[in-house]
Amino acid sequence: MKHLIPYLQDDQKAADYLRQLRWPNGVICPRCGSAAVESRERCDNGLQRFNCVPCAARSGQQFAMFTDWTSSIFEESKLRPLDWLLVIGLWQLKLNATEIAAAADIQERTAQRCINLLDGGIYETYHLDPSRQLEHQVEADECYQSAGSKGLPREVERRDREPRQRGIQLRGRATAETGRPPILGLVQRRDQTDQDAPAAQVYLEVLENVRTATIKPIIAAKVKVGAQFFTDEYNIYHFTKVDYDHRTVNHGAGEYARRDPDGTCVHCNTMEGMWSGLRNFLDRFKGISQRFLHLRVARYEFLHNYKHLHWCQTFEATLRSIFSTTGDYLRRMAHQHRRMPLTLCYR
Ligand SMILES: [Zn+2]
Repeated sequence: MKHLIPYLQDDQKAADYLRQLRWPNGVICPRCGSAAVESRERCDNGLQRFNCVPCAARSGQQFAMFTDWTSSIFEESKLRPLDWLLVIGLWQLKLNATEIAAAADIQERTAQRCINLLDGGIYETYHLDPSRQLEHQVEADECYQSAGSKGLPREVERRDREPRQRGIQLRGRATAETGRPPILGLVQRRDQTDQDAPAAQVYLEVLENVRTATIKPIIAAKVKVGAQFFTDEYNIYHFTKVDYDHRTVNHGAGEYARRDPDGTCVHCNTMEGMWSGLRNFLDRFKGISQRFLHLRVARYEFLHNYKHLHWCQTFEATLRSIFSTTGDYLRRMAHQHRRMPLTLCYR
């Protein structure tokens, strides 16, 4: 985090640094996209104000003002730009809200809001990006994560059952309804022959259940046709024979890896390793709500896929990704859950 130090002392420097990441080719109006903008005086927190000349002319007003943060997820935040830089640096270290609050000297509720905004921004721009596809050698597996209605006693009551009993294994395949939502993991193995190859690229999707009907469209969208596709012998994956070179290891028979006659290594060990990393990460939140599970998982997915880069590059990639959203996903989410505390979702 050393490269952040110069910006953490000065509101204006922090705002300038953030602006450079948002608009590397020069400031444009977030409403109309025009570059015909003029700088005005700064806000108290260091953010630069701009006037968009075409927008002002169109509306017949003297000015059409916007700031560095207009139409970004930071727009309604009271936190100063330099505080945000610190929080994002700590977010990247995979800390939870309590730890971020202590390290950045902000309130825990504020830290909670910040991580929901950041995780939500990454979910919307990175996780949901339809252009991201896996190819060559792809492993698939599923795991189950305990997640309930943390922090929502009324929601627990509504479900008309006892609170989830911790540490008790339920019989059969768990579902979101039984308090253990499945997570589908798809991972493209790293190209071992190329030293500069990026980290193994992963795609993680939190599901309601693991029926074929649920996972089939996800695999079709995320794995390129013709890829080698490795799973265990669980029958939900049988449909993949049509589009992929599907090979299975028989965990039931004690087989965990084998080398096929054509030299292909058949195993799901890359994905198994990923699960222990994800579990370690999710354990930091000490009980996790189903409402936020997919957001936390998206942060893990993003940071994992960027982990071959230098810390600075990942930090800047985070901000570029975050600045490409307006927070619509989070607003919709807050709206859907309007009977739940909004402060936890947005603003
Ligand atoms: Zn404009």
